[in-house]
Amino acid sequence: MLLRGGTVVDAFGARRADVRVDGERIAEVGESLAAADRDVIDVDGAYVIPGGIDVHTHLALPVGAVRSADDFESGTLAAACGGTTCIVDFAGAGREPWEEALATWHERADGRAVVDYGFHLTVTDVPEDPDVARARFEQFAEHGVTSVKLYMAYPDRLMVDDDTLLRALVAARAAGIRVCVHAEDGAAIEELTAKALASGRTGPGAIPEVRPPSVEAAAIERATALARKAAASLYVVHLSSAQGLEAVKAARAAGADVHAETCPQYLFLESGRLTDGSDEAQDFVCAPPLRCGSDRAALWAAAGSGELEVVSTDHCPFTCADRRHGTAAESDHWRDFTQIPGGLPGLETRVGLLYQGVRRGWLSLERWTDAVAGAPARLFGLDARKGQVRPGLDADLVVFDPEATKRLTAAALHSRSDHSPYASMELHGWPVLTVARGRVVASGGEPAPQAAAGGRFVARARVASDPLGGLRP
Ligand code: MN
Repeated sequence: MLLRGGTVVDAFGARRADVRVDGERIAEVGESLAAADRDVIDVDGAYVIPGGIDVHTHLALPVGAVRSADDFESGTLAAACGGTTCIVDFAGAGREPWEEALATWHERADGRAVVDYGFHLTVTDVPEDPDVARARFEQFAEHGVTSVKLYMAYPDRLMVDDDTLLRALVAARAAGIRVCVHAEDGAAIEELTAKALASGRTGPGAIPEVRPPSVEAAAIERATALARKAAASLYVVHLSSAQGLEAVKAARAAGADVHAETCPQYLFLESGRLTDGSDEAQDFVCAPPLRCGSDRAALWAAAGSGELEVVSTDHCPFTCADRRHGTAAESDHWRDFTQIPGGLPGLETRVGLLYQGVRRGWLSLERWTDAVAGAPARLFGLDARKGQVRPGLDADLVVFDPEATKRLTAAALHSRSDHSPYASMELHGWPVLTVARGRVVASGGEPAPQAAAGGRFVARARVASDPLGGLRP
């Protein structure tokens, strides 16, 4: 296959070049490459970018009585249609042993995924003995899982204390594992929630005030202090607020090696969707919650500068019916906002949505592709195989037409979610061809016949603490 006449964009810049694919790999990138006519695809006027890598998804995740609406089949198909060719999903639903979590997630994905996938492990306990802890983290790496996530929120299901997080950071540094944190102060949220419920505020409109930016910033301050103590790198998932961003910058200035991602919902949506009193408000519940305009502006600026290196999705959709049912098994409708399953769809719309920032001049073409592919590959042990348009790497490629238009209705998208939080939007720019390890998996935003189940598990390489992490912009 030869993609002829496009503009190749990756972290190394934008340049006119043809891209020749041989089997599953990129064979050649250069001007006026030769190929047999029948294999040539004219992509004049389009960008040829590395396939998107989404390092924050929750497919088929059980949450109480309900389960996230996309499994590995529908989720990765939606990913392909929207220009994402690799995902890293969080294995683990609670406090089950890690071997069990990993086996369960492999079983869910094996033979079903359209694009490649890896796993993070959700860690809720770390052995007290440092040698035992390190040996466990070494085992994760031997299974191709080189990142873990710990939660500073959800005391009933997932939260860890600071000692556990510190032990994880120490073990992870030794084993070449990246530590991700869900940075919200769980105890503070419990207190604010109790207060809201006691005053009869039970609807989703109360969520922004029980999970304010201050609980995000406080958790980041604690986690980054622990990372400095352990001389370990830390990755903050789904950063949502200006105050949280300031905490990241302050930690870097103090010498912490801290990386961060944000998600499209925090760049495009605001908390008014939760507080407007409408029935649809419950369809915008996610954690951290949607924020206000000044938060969005700060996050866009940081995504543009690279201070926020990654844009992932936290893809965790629920059907309208499941949202209204809630996470409790015993009733047909949630009793208060703590029982509304939280999470939004995003896998299919991430690459196209972030491109809108390029159109507005908020980030460069290079920064766009780096946020959706290059940086996640570098940070999560995938860069020897994916993340750039370079000979020898997997032929994970997206032909992106900057003039294509796309209206983001749930019906026009491929997630099993029956609502889209972006339903009112029309985007300019959309993937018109998605190639995953050499196979065309989507064309014109629709699944290609070859789409079925060609994705494979990717064992990821170990990651190193980055001694310059705290000094980079
Ligand atoms: Mn998440």
